[in-house]
Amino acid sequence: MKTHSAHENAVIQLEQVAKILRNEYADEVQSRFDTAIDKLKTPDRVFEESLTIQMDDGSSREFTAFRSQHDNARGPYKGGIRFHENVSRDEVMALSTWMTWKCAVTGIPYGGGKGGVIVNPRILSAGELQRLSRAYARFLAPYIGPWVDVPAPDVNTNGQIMAWMVDEYEQFQLETNKSQGENPVATFTGKPLELGGSQGREEATGLGGIYVLEKLAEKMKWSDKKKVSIAIQGFGNVGYWFAKHAFDRGYTVVALSDSKGAIYNPEGLDPEKVLATKQKTGTLSGGKAITNEELLALDVTVLVPAALENVITAEIAPKIKAAAIIEMANGPTTPEADALLEKKGIVLIPDVLANAGGVTTSYFEWVQNLHGYYWSHAEVLAKLQPLMDRAFIEIWKVKETSKQSMRMATYMKAVKSVVDLMLLRGRV
Ligand code: NAD
Repeated sequence: MKTHSAHENAVIQLEQVAKILRNEYADEVQSRFDTAIDKLKTPDRVFEESLTIQMDDGSSREFTAFRSQHDNARGPYKGGIRFHENVSRDEVMALSTWMTWKCAVTGIPYGGGKGGVIVNPRILSAGELQRLSRAYARFLAPYIGPWVDVPAPDVNTNGQIMAWMVDEYEQFQLETNKSQGENPVATFTGKPLELGGSQGREEATGLGGIYVLEKLAEKMKWSDKKKVSIAIQGFGNVGYWFAKHAFDRGYTVVALSDSKGAIYNPEGLDPEKVLATKQKTGTLSGGKAITNEELLALDVTVLVPAALENVITAEIAPKIKAAAIIEMANGPTTPEADALLEKKGIVLIPDVLANAGGVTTSYFEWVQNLHGYYWSHAEVLAKLQPLMDRAFIEIWKVKETSKQSMRMATYMKAVKSVVDLMLLRGRV
């Protein structure tokens, strides 16, 4: 079977959605609809540059850097910056396309963007990492800003890296007289709290997934939360917060895992206790040791992949016994597995809906930065829930009326809202 690149997959997906969506538009609008879809197959622009960094030993090294700006019909381009050896032009193009759909899902006023540098950051000293981050920010500086393109952390980047980038962007403004008056703090999200980060951002992705779980439980008529058993792959930021909020609400978390393996306890696990022992001993404990693959095949109500992409493959899919899957990781299910799961009647909540709580809270961070007025932790969480709930309810309705899967319904809603704005603006 021919394997497709990430961006080819994004285009195939868009074509499938467009085929169904086209009929919702009046005959006289369909050719403009087609033009919009064609335009959305490629990003508006992709910047590429070779960044030269001075290493600690006095030598210089070159690192290839990218930023893809996919579409801004709904608002400024928005998306993370990834530091990883597998970063490529194709990958950032695909990821920026998916960001356009993710922002449209919860209705936040952003388009899609993504950036990255081909590098293994673990080989860099702290000084080298800072110089690379600053060089990247300087390369991007002419093309970003709070009303243009708002980057954030992604794989292997964090609040500290955003702080260096904010500082470099501000220096660029002063030195070049360009983008003067643009708020440097509102140009990046995922910042440390002291530099304008938002309360609640750390747990927002996991908690957003819980709001989705609660709505799903209503639809599936799972009235007794204790009887809803949950297996979670990945116990990092997303997996931990999902597990903790599920436990606090009375669901039974029966399995957890990290890169070393999984634990299973049908009586239930307390995620806070598991974390405390993991921090002391380095391993997960509190249940029977099983493999990550066994975790995926457990007989549970809900399976939550919250670690890596492409873990639910065509080989694993037939073994899955869960009634529902909530994709907290990005891209955990391969397209072949997706088709098999649908045939089995497993309800799958796709990543662009399930983990949208993260980017939605980044939007709250940006709003707070633009106003210079900061919200409490409780205020942030109270604003997140209605947006997640509304997205779920609207997409469920699309699923029911169109008889499509949740993934297709999610893309239908997202693509339609982008195309409608392209039509409204007269771009096509
Ligand atoms: P993280 O680095 O904090 O945690 C990753 C977890 O996965 C760790 O527990 C790690 O041990 C585990 N893991 C690594 N390799 C594994 C393997 N082979 N098998 C099982 N577990 C393995 O990362 P995170 O921020 O929690 O992100 C997890 C996923 O969620 C990623 O796909 C990420 O893109 C996605 N995501 C994160 C956010 C966010 O706000 N952090 C937002 C949207 C999407």
